[in-house]
Amino acid sequence: MQIFNTLTRKKEEFVPNEPGKVKMYTCGPTVYHFAHIGNLRSYICEDVLEKLLRFSGYDVKRVMNITDVGHLSSDADTGEDKMLSGAKREHKSVMEIAKYYTDAFFSDFAKLNIKMPDVVEPATNCIPEFIHMIEVLLEKGYAYKAGENIYFDTSKLDKYYVFGNMSEEDLQVGVREDVTEDTNKRNKNDFVLWFTKSKFEDQALKWPSPWGVGYPGWHIECSCISMKHLGERMDIHCGGIDNMFPHHTNEIAQSEAFVGHKWCNYWFHVHHLNDETGKMSKSKGEFLTVSLLEEKGYDPIAYRFFVLQSHYRKPLTFSYEALGQAADTYKKLKDRVLRIPEEGSIDEAAVKEWHDKFAEIVGNDVNTAMGITLLYDVLKADVNGATKRAIIADYDTVLGLRLLTEAAAEAPAAEGEDVAEIEALIAERTAAKKAKDFAKADAIRDQLLGMGIVLEDTREGVKWKRA
Ligand code: AMP
Ligand code: ZN
Repeated sequence: MQIFNTLTRKKEEFVPNEPGKVKMYTCGPTVYHFAHIGNLRSYICEDVLEKLLRFSGYDVKRVMNITDVGHLSSDADTGEDKMLSGAKREHKSVMEIAKYYTDAFFSDFAKLNIKMPDVVEPATNCIPEFIHMIEVLLEKGYAYKAGENIYFDTSKLDKYYVFGNMSEEDLQVGVREDVTEDTNKRNKNDFVLWFTKSKFEDQALKWPSPWGVGYPGWHIECSCISMKHLGERMDIHCGGIDNMFPHHTNEIAQSEAFVGHKWCNYWFHVHHLNDETGKMSKSKGEFLTVSLLEEKGYDPIAYRFFVLQSHYRKPLTFSYEALGQAADTYKKLKDRVLRIPEEGSIDEAAVKEWHDKFAEIVGNDVNTAMGITLLYDVLKADVNGATKRAIIADYDTVLGLRLLTEAAAEAPAAEGEDVAEIEALIAERTAAKKAKDFAKADAIRDQLLGMGIVLEDTREGVKWKRA
């Protein structure tokens, strides 16, 4: 498989550290508001990447954090705390806000047919790990205390400008004009690892630490959460392009200072979805969410189709007109697929041949648009109906377009047909609850809800019914 690696700015053959196994990390959402469909473009593309790796034969372990604390707009502690402002806006506690928007986020995942990462970890679960990493960075001389906060000292690194195309000027991109410079910093690019002195006197979430009661800086969580579950060497790290600086740059700085060697080999960055005014925003204009698209009558999978029609390394402009066209094309494609006659028996050799073709073509830097073109080639191919259906089902494990799923209203799933899947998800949820991974448990409940299944926790165990 070929992947464009932002670290080297080249398309490279993907070679994981351990043959056959991929350790993958995704920067998760800041759960202070609904995700907009721009955020979800990134998660759709990362979902396709994960599924494509599996399709190509890799065993993938994917980890994602949930930012539920400490994401300030600036290290100077002068920007807003997104979680706190969300809580104030809705007169709720920070934890209530985090829970509500985490659930909403995973309900969007289910609607868009995005697979749940194998591990989902909220930052607030990992405070001891953050403190440990900061202690080691202090011991190794990579961090210092100033103005009662702990900072990472970027001057101690051999190299800080890790994403090759970045100039001094680019490094200013993440700094907002209205934010005043933090005078505690020794170097312009130093960043906070731990706040003990915050202007947010009403900061709701604080923890004791060797440096006083406080809370973590933003970047530390991704380094710690990935290492907790994936170890000291990771294969591929994903996020939207805006995460490249300062977030990913700082993740690399502190992670490599901590482990003392290279940390992650490949960096996958998804370019932005913009609206017609330019940048997608959660505060200005129409706030584009999956629910809004549904209210307007669009199938969320049509949005997924719209995203897959373009390449993840190109900016994409959203308009209702463009979405409408994608929805039309998607519907026609699906109608054609559903009309494939169920005739003959599956020609396994042909399925394998078409599988390899897809792996090669789409495996060339996640070329989803070519994946869609291949679907049309399959429709025209000289193979029987059963084989066509099998090839399309195989492709759809990557594209996730639910091409062979009849629309519920037209042909409700026969009673019992999906029971095995439902029971498996319920078992997975019970295991997650037992392991105290409540974010995952809640996400599975939401996924089931998306499938029209309502759960009831009773003394005898979990009961379910169709909504
Ligand atoms: P946030 O919740 O702000 O941390 O963002 C969640 C993810 O969405 C991150 O990977 C961001 O890089 C990504 N992202 C933010 N805005 C956009 C956008 N307009 N288009 C695509 N991805 C985005
Ligand atoms: Zn991150």
